[in-house]
Amino acid sequence: MAVLFFLFIFGTQSVLASDKVVVVIDPGHGGYSEDASAYGAVYKDELCEKDVNLETAFALRDELQRYNNVEVYLTREDDRRLSLEERVDFALSVGADVLVSCHYNASETHLFYGSEIFTSAFGYCYSYGNGLAQCIMEQWIDDGQASKGIKTRIGSTGEDYYGIIRHGCEVSLPVIIIEHGYLDNHVDYERLGTVGDWDRMGRLDATGIANYYGLSKEQVYDEVFPVVDVPIPDYVVEPDTSPPGYVYLRIIDQNIETSEVVYELSAKESNGKLMYYGLCLGEPEETAPEDYGDLMLWEEGKSVITGTYSVPTGYRGKITARVYNNYELYSDSAPQELDFATLLEERAQLLEEAAKEAAAKAEERRQSLLKRDEEAKLEAERKKEREEVGDFFFFVGGDKKGDQVDPVKARRSLYLEIVALVVLIAVLVCIIIIKHRKEIMKTIRNIEGNDWDRY
Ligand SMILES: [Zn+2]
Repeated sequence: MAVLFFLFIFGTQSVLASDKVVVVIDPGHGGYSEDASAYGAVYKDELCEKDVNLETAFALRDELQRYNNVEVYLTREDDRRLSLEERVDFALSVGADVLVSCHYNASETHLFYGSEIFTSAFGYCYSYGNGLAQCIMEQWIDDGQASKGIKTRIGSTGEDYYGIIRHGCEVSLPVIIIEHGYLDNHVDYERLGTVGDWDRMGRLDATGIANYYGLSKEQVYDEVFPVVDVPIPDYVVEPDTSPPGYVYLRIIDQNIETSEVVYELSAKESNGKLMYYGLCLGEPEETAPEDYGDLMLWEEGKSVITGTYSVPTGYRGKITARVYNNYELYSDSAPQELDFATLLEERAQLLEEAAKEAAAKAEERRQSLLKRDEEAKLEAERKKEREEVGDFFFFVGGDKKGDQVDPVKARRSLYLEIVALVVLIAVLVCIIIIKHRKEIMKTIRNIEGNDWDRY
C-alpha cells in the first residue's frame, strides 16, 4: 500500500505515515437477493439504496482523486452482489488504509432523519474511524444535515454489530459505515432525493476524507497521515443503551383563540444526545410512534424546549410528549390534562355576562338621555315662564331680569304684594272712616233726611 512506512508518534495515537493513503469506498448493497439485503433501503418502490450508494461513491471517488497523495478504489462499480467478507478482502488486496462503506438509511416508522456514522467500538479501529467520521460529519452538518452522531453498535456476542466493521477490525482495517440520511423521511428526502444530491454528498464525503489526512489538490506531500487526534481507548466504547431521563412536559398556556397549547418540555440524556421530540394527544399506552407526527429536532445543548402544539377545537383529554435520543431510544412524559371545552364554556359565559352588562349600560344611558331631554324640556318651559314673569315684574317694578327669578316664588311674592296692598288700602279706608266718622255720619243723616232731588 505505501512506499514508505514508518511509525509516526502523533499525540497519544500511533499511526503509520506514508507518501499516500489508500482509501477504499464501498457502495453498500448491490445485486439481487430474496431478502432486502441486496437492495438496501427502498423508498416508494422507486428509489433503491444500492443505486444511490453507487452514484454517491462515484462522485466521492471522482472528487477524492483530484487530491494528491491519495489512491481511491471502489469495491464495486456496477450492480453486483458482494458479501461483506469480499468487500473487506478487496480492501486488503489493494492495501487499504481505511474502508468507507457508503449507505443511506430508512426506518420502520419512517420517523427519523439525519446522518450518522458507525465505527468499531474497539481500540485503533475506533480511534481511526472516529477521527475520519468527525471530518465527514462536519461536512454534512455544514451542508445542513442533522447529525445523529458518530456511534458504535455492539452485537449479542460483544463484538461490533455490523459485519463489515467486525471483519475489518479482525484484520486491523478501520471500517466506517457512513449513513448519509434517511431516504424514507421527507425531511432528508427533500435534501437527498435527487442524483444531484447524491453527487453533492459524495463530494462532501471526499472533502471530509481529504481533511482527515490533510490532503491538498495543489501540493504533493512527502508523507500523509491522519491529522485528527482521537486517543485509542483502552475500553470498549459502548453505545448508549438507556433512553432519555427526566422527561417532563409542562403546559404553560391553552390558547382557545388559536386552539394551541404552549408547552415546555425538559429532558436529560447522560450518554448520547437528545435528538428528537414529538407530542401526541392521548396517553402513551394508546398511541403509536407515528402519532407523534413529524418529529422535531431537539436543539443541541438545550435541556428545555418550548413550543406550541395545535389541538382540535374544544379538546378535552390528555397530551403526552416523547423524547428520543440519537440511538432512537425514547421516554414519554407523564400525560398532562387539557381542557379546552371548559375554557370555551367559561369564555362563552364571560361573553354572555359582558353582553348583559353592556345591554344594562345601554339601557341606563338611554334612561339618562330621556331624563336629560325631560329636564331640557322642563327647563325650556321654565325659561319661557321666567321670561313672562320677568316682563310682569318689570311692569310691577320687580326684578327686571325675569330669567333670574324663580317663577313660583315670583308668583307667590306677587300675590303677597297684592294682598298687602289690599290690606293697606282697607286699613287706610278704616282710618279715614274712623277719623271722619262724625262728618260721615252727619252726611249720611243729612242724606237720609233730605230730598235727594235737591241735589
Ligand atoms: Zn444500507
